[in-house]
Amino acid sequence: MCDWYQAVVDLQAKPQEAEYLALKVTATFMTEGLIQPIIQPYKENYYLEGYRTGPKFHIFFDSPDQFGTVETFARGWYSQYGVLALENATCSICGTQISSQNMDVLTELKQSFAEVGQKFCNINELGPVCCPICSAIIPAHQWLTVPHLGFSHLAFVFWNWPPFEECRLDLLDHIDRVLGHRTVLTYGHL
Ligand SMILES: [Zn+2]
Repeated sequence: MCDWYQAVVDLQAKPQEAEYLALKVTATFMTEGLIQPIIQPYKENYYLEGYRTGPKFHIFFDSPDQFGTVETFARGWYSQYGVLALENATCSICGTQISSQNMDVLTELKQSFAEVGQKFCNINELGPVCCPICSAIIPAHQWLTVPHLGFSHLAFVFWNWPPFEECRLDLLDHIDRVLGHRTVLTYGHL
């Protein structure tokens, strides 16, 4: 099984409201039968930690994946596996796009994003990532990256779900309505 996730990131959520908003979304999903109402512990080679898909999952998707889970993060979160899958990053000051064509620089940037991201998760302080081209000191979230790296206080991580485009419902719009915020969809893989 190739482990990957789609993550819904709420960049507007404030730390003090994140927990309430996370509960609002999971409660909605439980009511709809999209997820089960208990958190499943991690079990190697079978499923990841989080809420497993629920009894009405098939109403939303044609190809239900019984191994899919949802993890919620009502605290500092960045897309750790998005950093691993980083395709490119564009400096918001000089506009230079760094991609796999410049692998050494991209690898160095990944390292910087990972360090800043870890610190953000641990002590909730978002540091800068310097541009290797123009030397500008840029807050990590102001880099334009593919995939988006999050750096938010609220995220929903859908492990091994079918692609959201296959859902009969506009899932992102659905979540946005529950949250009352505009979210960003991103991804990452092991
Ligand atoms: Zn630059």
